[in-house]
Amino acid sequence: MDIDNRAEDLASDLGADKEEVKGDLENLLEYSVPIEEAVQSLRRKYGDGSGGGGSGPSTKSVGEITTEDSSVNVTGVVLTAGERSIRYQGEDHVIVEGELADEDGKIDFTAWEDFGLSAGDVITAGNAGVREWDGDPELNLGESTSVSFLDETPTIPYEVGGEADLTSLQTGDRAKTLEVAILESEERTIDGRDGETTILSGVLGDESGRLPFTNWDPVPEITEGESVRIENAYVREFRGVPEVNISEFSRVTALEAPVDVGSAAPRMAIGEAVATGGVYDLEVVGNLLAVRDGSGLIQRCPECNRVIQKGQCRTHGSVDGIDDLRVKAILDDGTGAVTVVLDEALTEAVYGGDVEDAKEEARDAMDQEAVADTIRERIVGVEYRVRGHLSVDEYGANLDASTFEASDDDPVERAREFLERRGAVGTTEVES
Ligand SMILES: [Zn+2]
Repeated sequence: MDIDNRAEDLASDLGADKEEVKGDLENLLEYSVPIEEAVQSLRRKYGDGSGGGGSGPSTKSVGEITTEDSSVNVTGVVLTAGERSIRYQGEDHVIVEGELADEDGKIDFTAWEDFGLSAGDVITAGNAGVREWDGDPELNLGESTSVSFLDETPTIPYEVGGEADLTSLQTGDRAKTLEVAILESEERTIDGRDGETTILSGVLGDESGRLPFTNWDPVPEITEGESVRIENAYVREFRGVPEVNISEFSRVTALEAPVDVGSAAPRMAIGEAVATGGVYDLEVVGNLLAVRDGSGLIQRCPECNRVIQKGQCRTHGSVDGIDDLRVKAILDDGTGAVTVVLDEALTEAVYGGDVEDAKEEARDAMDQEAVADTIRERIVGVEYRVRGHLSVDEYGANLDASTFEASDDDPVERAREFLERRGAVGTTEVES
């Protein structure tokens, strides 16, 4: 939350001095007052009895609400509503997040008070705060908001409930309902905000794809090999990809019938995939343009596993390195490029030998680079189909390969070229 923006909005709303409002706001936050409460108390302090500074909240349809509004009266259907615990200024708060819709549009909301909202409710929120989040307006239902439940069923072009499949999930999604198979699950002990806690993490799958998950409050239904329905999951980004979060407020029930999991990863153009900022499991096809430095026979630090140069680890100094095989190669499909990273097993397959063979080649050539050169000769210029995990950061886009195969299309293409060439040769022969 940006205090500066909040103070500015509030000051202009109240017709008060920005620096003064900001000072007061910072003061309250320092005393661990949640921001919504702080804002409300400042509204009272500056004499905004019921929306005083302006003309008071206006009544709007969902689609009419913009980031220019400071507060509105709005009627709509609660599409989703899920509880979540957040820690703010050192204290835990249970908030309810979801979406509200009418025939005109839909909007995210956060309720800071317990209004008893659930999916399907038709409500009028009086004096709901509007804030900007990622460029879009969002509703804040707080202390000064009145919520009344209506007895009508407006027709809206959206489905009530947060049913979703895995590939449609995006970072920031809340109150989602999923039916998934648990493909992998393991217990981990982490240093949580309240000391050591045990959590579960792993991989979920459905027909559309796969995504990693964390179960913050482990439940027995989350067991590898089982299929479950998860209600009220939220999605946040972890290591560059969306991650399903299952909290103490999520409801997990076992499913009798197993959920089918698609075996293929979604095929994407490289440019499109990189633009998403990260994809957990995807397939791309492209031409292998180059093998980068740091490929072939390498040495890793025995302490931190990072690749070392000339026996020197950046963190651990002079160490006795462990030999390993790796390939970092540039794959391009015309829409973009990624660095494909092959682990030891995949490198062995393209190299046609293991670490011992590589050491022998390096010894014979008296050059460690000989191994990378051999790999270069085998794979550069070939079209590959690569499946794996794409992460994008300031250093570029890396695709950690789980499979790496010469593209199926390739032999057909090569055969056609071959036949065409033969045809040309044949014609020449006839002519001569
Ligand atoms: Zn090290």
